[in-house]
Amino acid sequence: MKVDFLIIGQGLAGSLFALHAIERGQRVLVIDRDEAETSSRVAAGLITPIAGGRFHLPASLPTRLAYASLWYERYESALEASFFHPTPIARLFQNEAEKQRWEDKIADPAEAAKLDGFWQPLPDTYKENPGIARQHGGFLMQKGGWMDLPAFLDATQRFLLARLSYAIAEFDSRELKVTSSGARWENVEAAQVIFAQGWQADCNRFFDWLPMNAAKGEILELSAPDLQPDDTILNSGGWAIPTRNGRWRVGSTYDHNFEDVSTTEAGRLAVLQKFHSMVDVDFAMISHRAAVRPIIRRSTPFIGRHPQHPQLALLNGFGSKGVINGPWFAKLLLAHLLDGAEIPMENDLAILL
Ligand SMILES: Cc1cc2nc3c(=O)[nH]c(=O)nc-3n(C[C@H](O)[C@H](O)[C@H](O)COP(=O)(O)OP(=O)(O)OC[C@H]3O[C@@H](n4cnc5c(N)ncnc54)[C@H](O)[C@@H]3O)c2cc1C
Repeated sequence: MKVDFLIIGQGLAGSLFALHAIERGQRVLVIDRDEAETSSRVAAGLITPIAGGRFHLPASLPTRLAYASLWYERYESALEASFFHPTPIARLFQNEAEKQRWEDKIADPAEAAKLDGFWQPLPDTYKENPGIARQHGGFLMQKGGWMDLPAFLDATQRFLLARLSYAIAEFDSRELKVTSSGARWENVEAAQVIFAQGWQADCNRFFDWLPMNAAKGEILELSAPDLQPDDTILNSGGWAIPTRNGRWRVGSTYDHNFEDVSTTEAGRLAVLQKFHSMVDVDFAMISHRAAVRPIIRRSTPFIGRHPQHPQLALLNGFGSKGVINGPWFAKLLLAHLLDGAEIPMENDLAILL
């Protein structure tokens, strides 16, 4: 079998790259070991344009976010699936200091201009609702939402299977032979191999030098039908996403020093504490899951060709921002490989050497 791209890993990164490549007429084969608990399958899938306690909105974010939103909308039709959920986010201040930081920020004309269109005042429902912690106020974040990543991955897998472009397989880098025209793995001859293995990217012999700094996260699904309004995400240190039928996805922990990938009692309690800091309602626990975020430097994606083997390339480092950044960087890596498009220095794999 001959392909233009052999893609290792069908998480968010591998899926996005495969779909972009197919759209440009490339032949692809995606292989994945079909694990139940991967970063993409466990992730909240949140899109939060204004991030963290400093309310940061990077200058390049509106472009990447607009591209991602349009791309996901288009692919909901192409894949005949529902996975992209634009949803307002009630950003509730955790304390008076945070509230003051926000007020200082929007009082600065340059910062206010950057944030324009990304927020509006919190509706009165939040002031009246006794369930939601509201003592410090907040604002309503716009252009955010969440992505049902398992639904996206499943739809992508069906699409690839129908084109005979997907196989369940465990990839072992010792079995990949670099050749003069590309690379060979089993009976597959590929012009180019894309490594999209998530946090275990450094477990293969070509990329064992990557400075992976992965972070484990634990997440809960709760049933809380009394929690209203249920058409808005809550965000205040932790977050709670209304998914369907009174269910909320709640999270999460963030731990660079983890021993294994299993769920823990400490993780469950930490997530519940975040939930209780935002709301006071009855709930029942539905599930508790854990996975590991692929992080190299914060949530900076790293892309590019392998320094010695140009027929091998990497798409990784999505961190906690894969949903916003993924489509843009999948498109950029493909344009780099096919057309020689330039990679910004801060995302270039070469700077990690
Ligand atoms: C608790 C939690 C919450 C999160 N919340 C958010 C959020 O709100 N918003 C956001 O944008 N991001 C969030 N993330 C991060 C997000 O999940 C990642 O940025 C993104 O999904 C990573 O995608 P990936 O394809 O790089 O990695 P993965 O999803 O890890 O995919 C890698 C794939 O490669 C496969 N693979 C690896 N090695 C091999 C091999 N040797 N052979 C075959 N297959 C292999 C794996 O099985 C997997 O399917 C969260 C993550 C966690 C854990």
